[in-house]
Amino acid sequence: MQIAPPEIHVARLNALRTALERAGLDALVVTSLPNIAYLTGFFASASALIATGSELRLIGDGRYAEALAERARDFPAIRPIELPAGASYDQSVVDALAALRGLRVGFEAGHLTVRRHQFLTRELESAGWGDGLIATDDIVDGLRICKDRWEASRLRDGGERLSTLAKCILSNVLAGRTEADVAADIDAALRRAGFERPAFDTIVAAGPNAARPHGRAGQRRIEPGELVVIDFGGVLDGYCTDLTRTVIAGPDEPRGRRLIEQVIEAQAAAFAAVRPGVEPEAVDTAARESLGRAGLAEAFTHGTGHGLGLEIHEAPRVSKRRAGQVEPPLAAGMVLTLEPGAYFAGWGGVRIEDDVLVTEDGAEWLTDVPRA
Ligand code: ZN
Ligand code: ZN
Repeated sequence: MQIAPPEIHVARLNALRTALERAGLDALVVTSLPNIAYLTGFFASASALIATGSELRLIGDGRYAEALAERARDFPAIRPIELPAGASYDQSVVDALAALRGLRVGFEAGHLTVRRHQFLTRELESAGWGDGLIATDDIVDGLRICKDRWEASRLRDGGERLSTLAKCILSNVLAGRTEADVAADIDAALRRAGFERPAFDTIVAAGPNAARPHGRAGQRRIEPGELVVIDFGGVLDGYCTDLTRTVIAGPDEPRGRRLIEQVIEAQAAAFAAVRPGVEPEAVDTAARESLGRAGLAEAFTHGTGHGLGLEIHEAPRVSKRRAGQVEPPLAAGMVLTLEPGAYFAGWGGVRIEDDVLVTEDGAEWLTDVPRA
């Protein structure tokens, strides 16, 4: 697994410093693992981080001793803290915060459970902290929305690898095989292509199952002429890619063929709407209106897309705006999926999904696989 070079991490730390200043904070307790990975290059199943604008106190347990030391060597802003055996992360956060007493320290309100917050508050209070921690929203998540050049390169590489393997896999979705069998092929191909793991449970949904946007892969045998929705992705160097194609197993079937073409058209309409300054909702509307003109408005039952990066679903949401929710307009460096679909319960469905990078004057496809 490749980790972003030190100069990229220096730039992210500079951006964090600005974000902390803007929020009136001296430091931030980071408990979201993807946010920790973003700031430090430390990918672990457990960790905690106390970030000031110049220093990253990174807590890891004994399993990660070597990785912690390595990260600190590569990126000297990291101060590694190895968790003593049997100690808790939260106690270690409290201990590390002792040095920051009297400063304004935030926590990630969206990424800390009530129980953990209560523990930190109680312990800090008994250690003599007056104000406790300050709730913040999206400080690091906000930095992650626009991908830096290293992230764009990883996502581009992931998109290319995913496209290459998709071309082989999709020609092998044959009637008579089970959904689970095709999914197992995909998962094996992901690893062969260099992905660390599937980005989510691979979806292979045939016939009536294709009518459920989030059907899984079961033991059902694919019948000739059925639509098969195949939605899969891989994680490369920590970054997720996501692709869906719908194929017709065996002999062509005119209703399915026409539906595939209509959904492809909706995706093209969405792509044409992507450029900096546009509200994500406008991209959703473009896909929705295209399907509406085809008489499929009711059949499109989900949003047009989602952001991609260290997480498979991240900002921005490309869908109808929820009441009270503010989505920032699209900006160069954002990466999102465009995945319109049309579903008919009991019969089947179609979804076509690709990943795009927002550029200075439009968008670039990150995945490239024939759609029909
Ligand atoms: Zn997908
Ligand atoms: Zn998706």
